[in-house]
Amino acid sequence: MRSLCLLIVLCALTSVHAQIKPPSESVMDRFLRYVKIDTQSAEDQNTVPSTKKQFDLANLLAKELKDLGVRNVRVSEFGIVYGMVPGNLPDNSKVPTIGFIAHMDTSPAVSGANVKAIIHKNYQGGDIVLPSDKTQVITVDKNPDLKNLIGDDIITADGTTLLGSDDKSGCAEVMTMIDTLRSNPQIKHGNIAVAFTPDEEVGGGIEKFDIQNWGAKFAYTVDGEQLGDISNETWSARTATVTFHGKNTHPGTAKGIMINSMYAAGDFLSNFPAEAPNRPETTEGRVGFVHPYSSNMTEETSTIKILVRDFDLSGVAAKEELLKQIVAKTRAKYPQVKIDYDSKLGYLNMKEVLKDYPQLTDYAIEAAKRAGVTPEIRPIRGGTDGSNLTARGLPTPNLFTGGHNFHGKLEFNSRKGLEKSTDTLINLVQIWAERSK
Ligand SMILES: [Zn+2]
Repeated sequence: MRSLCLLIVLCALTSVHAQIKPPSESVMDRFLRYVKIDTQSAEDQNTVPSTKKQFDLANLLAKELKDLGVRNVRVSEFGIVYGMVPGNLPDNSKVPTIGFIAHMDTSPAVSGANVKAIIHKNYQGGDIVLPSDKTQVITVDKNPDLKNLIGDDIITADGTTLLGSDDKSGCAEVMTMIDTLRSNPQIKHGNIAVAFTPDEEVGGGIEKFDIQNWGAKFAYTVDGEQLGDISNETWSARTATVTFHGKNTHPGTAKGIMINSMYAAGDFLSNFPAEAPNRPETTEGRVGFVHPYSSNMTEETSTIKILVRDFDLSGVAAKEELLKQIVAKTRAKYPQVKIDYDSKLGYLNMKEVLKDYPQLTDYAIEAAKRAGVTPEIRPIRGGTDGSNLTARGLPTPNLFTGGHNFHGKLEFNSRKGLEKSTDTLINLVQIWAERSK
């Protein structure tokens, strides 16, 4: 009986695999090609994209989309690549158009030029020393997910650059999904909008995103980390600015005249509670923080900028209340210094919108499970391009890419990471078609 069961299971597995024809290029080969193209973005530029070289990858991806039969392919003046994969259903209008977005740029933190990807074939456990700088070591201690990658082919940089898995993994996975769908017309799906964006790492590219003409009703960013991580929550973010107005004069004749704003600013900072849960360095998980991150001080005027972060709007409000109490304390101590408090909304937790569209997350969970991946919902202690799009009316959670250690020389992904992430995307468009009939 048992062997009969096993036989049936084996037959079923074989038949499923036999049905899927491979794409014209594997996700691994595509990824290795893309990481060779330097697309590092730069901070504090007035243009989008912040670096011209991002067009190199944008133009290549546009060409590949056209070669794969994608319609309406265009590269905007801001370096955003758009395209539409037509659905293959009898009536595509019954299924909402689903969008997929990956970003082309890599972090300004570490060079992305001359990336030499190293494939550590059939990984057998243990720490991975990067060959061109032996001080760069990917340790099992700091990367427990390595234990799940025994027997996999792990891809790293050589120790002198980042790898660019963030987010060329996403680019390769989206492109390979399209390629696989083209080779397998038996996989049914609705219209699929695709886009590759510049300047995600420096925040700016997404503001130029043309939601209207792109045509997606819902979207996913493919920009997450380890296999299974799905994020439908980000911070709700505000930035507070506290300004201290003093009075400057020549220090030689300042007696009784000068009011040095810096003392009040220093007092304000010293009144921040040291104990958890208030600071980034003492918090994790779902706990928010207040974080002074920049200041400018002179006798006349001092300003301090403070990040206020929480997953709940009530938590954001409570943290602002705390800041105002600290301001009041400093006012009482330095009555001659005028103190202004001001705060601005950065972005909203996407959950505030996504809670009304639970199917986006539910279908992604199902798609991961069908790819043999254990899904895990992980709130992002930051914002994503999806936070911006969601706030602008395009609900957009974030999906995993298989990558690890973003923005550093220890970045890595694996063959399984790339393949299972691609399988998840293919499953996801099928699930949307199945469930929307
Ligand atoms: Zn990214």
